[in-house]
Amino acid sequence: MVRVEDMVFEIVEDSLIVMKGVRMNNMYYLIGSSVTGRELATSVDSTRLRHLELSHSSIDLEMGAQTYNLKSSEHFDVSKKTPPDDPIKCVSGLVDCTVTNSYGAFSDQATCRASAAVYPTSENELINIVASATKANRKMKVATRYGHSRPNLVCLKGNDGLLISTKSLNKVISVNKTSMTMTFQSGILLRDLIDEAAKVGMALPYGPYWWGVTLGGMLGTGAHGSSIWGKGGAVHENVVGLRIITPAEAREGYAKVRVLDEGHPDLDAAKVHLGVLGVISQVSLDFMFP
Ligand SMILES: Cc1cc2nc3c(=O)[nH]c(=O)nc-3n(C[C@H](O)[C@H](O)[C@H](O)COP(=O)(O)OP(=O)(O)OC[C@H]3O[C@@H](n4cnc5c(N)ncnc54)[C@H](O)[C@@H]3O)c2cc1C
Repeated sequence: MVRVEDMVFEIVEDSLIVMKGVRMNNMYYLIGSSVTGRELATSVDSTRLRHLELSHSSIDLEMGAQTYNLKSSEHFDVSKKTPPDDPIKCVSGLVDCTVTNSYGAFSDQATCRASAAVYPTSENELINIVASATKANRKMKVATRYGHSRPNLVCLKGNDGLLISTKSLNKVISVNKTSMTMTFQSGILLRDLIDEAAKVGMALPYGPYWWGVTLGGMLGTGAHGSSIWGKGGAVHENVVGLRIITPAEAREGYAKVRVLDEGHPDLDAAKVHLGVLGVISQVSLDFMFP
């Protein structure tokens, strides 16, 4: 239930908000100046309901740092707008795990199991993980922060494999303003990648419209925006370097780093990797000025 008094929206029961706005110059402005409720207490002076679709069937509510998409119906439950959980769930600690995607089920409804999960934070940790798993003849797959693919690409054959999550591999490694390139750990979210690039005056020409995907996941599936201008709309068109950790012979320490720079004959083949060419540790992208 919502009480509206003196231009204040107050949620007095549950978390349902009835939005009322006026439209001016294709922009909706919230009538009222603050919204409060069990899950939310915020002042929303001049909150804008951004007009999204020409059909007027959908609008965005920009509230602080977050944007909520609303259908033109006026019902909106703020309490449900939380990010999906980690797709990896373990029975105890980091052993005896299952993995799913952000929808909670793969397209074939399979439950995928692994005997353990690891969360490396650096390339060195990644190398050690791949080396010990290779030595133990263990299968490995890479999972991401949310796991947005519907197909079960991340599933391992059998129940005794190892899931390597890139959740904590989410940092900027280097920035080169002269060549307009940046290098990232592969688990960085598209949202953070865009923000970090913007801080140094750079921008990706295109990307998927959903920013909860990771750099490694986008490359793995050939994720793209919607234009063929310039190099085209796919994120992998902007890749100028990859560092991939793969299993190796015992004499090489059971793991090695494969560095594919621009011009390397394997770079094009490795960009859209489907998660089967090793663990992508770092990715270098070229950017443009916004
Ligand atoms: C709401 C929504 C909107 C979308 N919009 C678009 C869109 O506009 N355009 C588009 O093209 N796609 C779109 N997609 C699809 C999305 O781009 C793909 O599902 C993307 O691959 C998901 O990325 P992820 O980081 O969640 O990767 P995941 O789904 O977790 O992983 C994908 C594959 O890559 C592998 N992988 C991930 N990281 C690594 C790594 N570091 N090393 C090795 N293997 C790795 C995984 O093992 C898996 O095989 C959308 C998806 C959603 C849910």
